[in-house]
Amino acid sequence: MFIHSIKLNKKNIIIITFILLLILFATFIFVNYSSIASNNNEEDKKDYIKWVDCSVTSTVLDKTSKLDISSHTNNEPVKLNWIELIAYLSSKYYGDFKKFKAKDLDDVVARLKNGEKIEDITKNMNYYSFYYEAYNAIFSEYIGEYSIETINADGITTYEKKYGIKAFLPIASGYNFSHYDDFGNSRSYGYKRTHLGNDLMGNIGTPIIAVESGVVEALGWNQYGGWRIGIRSFDNKRYYYYAHLRKDHPYAEDMYVGKVITAGDVIGYLGMTGYSTKENVNNINVPHLHFGIQLIFDEVQKDGVNQIWIDVYNIIEFLKKNKSQVYMSNKETYDYSRKYTILENNVFD
Ligand SMILES: [Zn+2]
Repeated sequence: MFIHSIKLNKKNIIIITFILLLILFATFIFVNYSSIASNNNEEDKKDYIKWVDCSVTSTVLDKTSKLDISSHTNNEPVKLNWIELIAYLSSKYYGDFKKFKAKDLDDVVARLKNGEKIEDITKNMNYYSFYYEAYNAIFSEYIGEYSIETINADGITTYEKKYGIKAFLPIASGYNFSHYDDFGNSRSYGYKRTHLGNDLMGNIGTPIIAVESGVVEALGWNQYGGWRIGIRSFDNKRYYYYAHLRKDHPYAEDMYVGKVITAGDVIGYLGMTGYSTKENVNNINVPHLHFGIQLIFDEVQKDGVNQIWIDVYNIIEFLKKNKSQVYMSNKETYDYSRKYTILENNVFD
């Protein structure tokens, strides 16, 4: 009855054809979506962070770290946590730190000092917990309590308790380097890929320092990285990658897979090895350390296709505040060691 009531004029045929096409298109989209969803089902079952864009600037790292450290060293009634401050700003700006205004930071700090809790301040910020988890995975071991070796006038070694930055620049104190934000630049050796780290240009032989404590996980020759070292943080969430180390003498004394490394230790020497399947070959044009940080929220991410490497340029800028002093500890092998030992209190206590 209804069909008969519609006149099959040209206009109506066009409308009916359009509706039929729309139904067809919607069905197509639905079927495709269902198959994608079921393909990803296995991965989706596990709830862990799959992508992090470390966009925090060195200015924000500088300001928030100072607030955190001074609130602890002055033993203020309200202790500030720089990771909470970074996560707050990141969720306020949806990750775009170009929007940073000092007043936004001052305001949240004032509220916290007034006794408000960060959980209450951020309860309507949808992305706060995501940013907190992501930035905590990057920076959780960068600031905290530690003890540093000091030698008094009588030559007696004591340990002084401190609170502050306990991660180190990967280049030893007293050695120059230059760098720019080269993360994501294209690289053509081997296959077309993007640069997943930061190149620190310096002189061959410059002692390379462990940024954070952890366990040596990879050591030896790698086609792309040349002589390289991979160190995993104790909480397993960060993999530090140091590559293109010096030909003939790449590593500090007594390096082996499984060795426990303390932040600030000398681990190797800057060089220009790599880009060769043959071992101990200098195929890099400019001597530099390739430094990278991989985040691992689930072990399948470590060697899988969806690895998370972050832009470390601003982290390097920030770490210029804390350099490890070294000296030549073996005059026969020309090996270097750190001058002052630190004990991390979470390990020490
Ligand atoms: Zn590189």
